This record gives sequence, C-alpha cells and structure tokens, in this order.
Amino acid sequence: MFIHKSRQLIISLSVAVLVLLAGTTAAAQRVTAPADDLADVAKTYQIEIVTVAPVFPVPTDYGAIDGQRAEPKQLENYTPLFRAEFTLYPTSFVKRSQLKRVVLCTELYFAGQRRNAVPDFAHDTLYLDVARGAYDRTYLRKVMHHEFFHIIDYRDDGELYSDERWSALNAPGFKYGTGGRNAQGQPTTSLPTDQFPGFLNHYSTTGVEEDKAELFAFLMVDYWFVQERIKRDGVLGQKVKMLKDLLKSFCADMNDELWNKISKRPQSLAARAGGGYIAGSFPKIV
Ligand SMILES: [Zn+2]
Repeated sequence: MFIHKSRQLIISLSVAVLVLLAGTTAAAQRVTAPADDLADVAKTYQIEIVTVAPVFPVPTDYGAIDGQRAEPKQLENYTPLFRAEFTLYPTSFVKRSQLKRVVLCTELYFAGQRRNAVPDFAHDTLYLDVARGAYDRTYLRKVMHHEFFHIIDYRDDGELYSDERWSALNAPGFKYGTGGRNAQGQPTTSLPTDQFPGFLNHYSTTGVEEDKAELFAFLMVDYWFVQERIKRDGVLGQKVKMLKDLLKSFCADMNDELWNKISKRPQSLAARAGGGYIAGSFPKIV
C-alpha cells in the first residue's frame, strides 16, 4: 500500500475535517504523498476530493453513474497530473462553477456506457476515471479540462446543447452531429486534424457542447498548437476569441493574465510527434 491508512481516510472527508486532520500529518510526508497533495487541492478550492469510499451507483435523471474505488497505485499515478492541471484554475473560477466534489475512481460508467469522466450537474460532482487512457498523459490532461468545461458551460446559462452565437461561426450549411456519445466507433475522433476547417478534430463536429469543450481542453493543454492552427483557420480563431470572452464574463479571473500563464506552460506537451497524441484507439471523451 502506498498510502498510509490514516492518510487515505483524509482525502475522503470534508474540507473541514481535512483541516482538522492536517495537523496530525507529518510535514515531511506531505511533499510527495498523493493523499496530502489532494488534500491541499481540496483545501485551496474548498471542494471535497473523494478517493477512498466513493458511493456507487449514483442515480440521476438520465441514468445511473457507476464505478469502483481506484487502487492506491492508480491514484499515485494520477494525482500529480490532476493537481498540475486543476490548480491552473483560479479559485474564483471553480467557486463560480459551484463544483462541490471530485470523485477519483475507476471502471466509470454512465447509463451503462463506459466513460472516462462524468459531470453530475445535479450533485455538483465531477467523476474522473484515473486509469482509463492512462498510457497517454496528454489525453488524461485534456479529459479533465474537457469535462470541467461542460460544468462551466452548464453553469453559465443552464444550456449545454445549443449556442446559436457559436454555431453561427461555422460555415453556412454546417450541422453538428448527434453528440459525443455517438462517436464511440471512431478511433481517430479525438486526434487533432486539419480535415475539418473550423474544428480541431472530428469530435468537435459532433455537437456544439463538444466543440467548445474540446477547444477549452486544447487551449489549457496545447495552447501553442491552437495558436498555430488559428493562423490559417479564421473560424477557429473566432471561436477562440468567443470562448475566451465567454470564460471572462463567467469569471473575471479567466483573463489575459491567465492565458499568458497558460501560454508559458512547458511546450513539450504540444511538441511531441503527432501533437502529443497516440494514434489509434483510445477511449473517447464524452
Ligand atoms: Zn464532452
């Protein structure tokens, strides 16, 4: 076991209890232990991060969310990535999203369909599968941002599946597909490509909600990849501007200063061959 039992308990408890228990944890251990790293994130953002005793299944109006507790080794692998990505968000951004809880688990399902992540809007909870697709770290990073954006998108106006202003940026006659869940049979759907002008990949064409979430995730993880694309894709450039405007009106701290910080992230992420993505079949983001 990688995590001491008492520290395992810490992450599943509320922030208030986390603070209470923090004094019992040796400072020297806090530096590297995943449980303590997650506790720090939970405290900073005033959210709960559940790993030890996730409750499944969770009934929702659209189907049950199901999953399993992650193994300590899986959590150990995932925690540095989660922490690095999540802490890019200003605290005010997360507060505005009304997110209350992140559940890190495995074998995640929604309404019987295997998922990498599930935003549960009714309970202000984000479920993340820490193991599926873990062989591609860039992919895992993107999944987190993509799914968190769905929560933002829902919170900004209560509407996910239509955005007329955004859709109007597309070429005349363009129609989105039937949603991300129906792209499961397309092995290359998430790979960046020039094949669809105005879009980063096939997945972005499956729904306006996926178009926005993919663009957000790419900006967070592959900022300069997007900048290169918009040099020769005016529609995509307009979408980047609209997305940034949308985010800034949602939360004032999602401003140029933040994007400047994002733009200075290590560029090895984008510089890897193929834009940082393993070609072939890896799980789809929904
Ligand atoms: Zn999605």
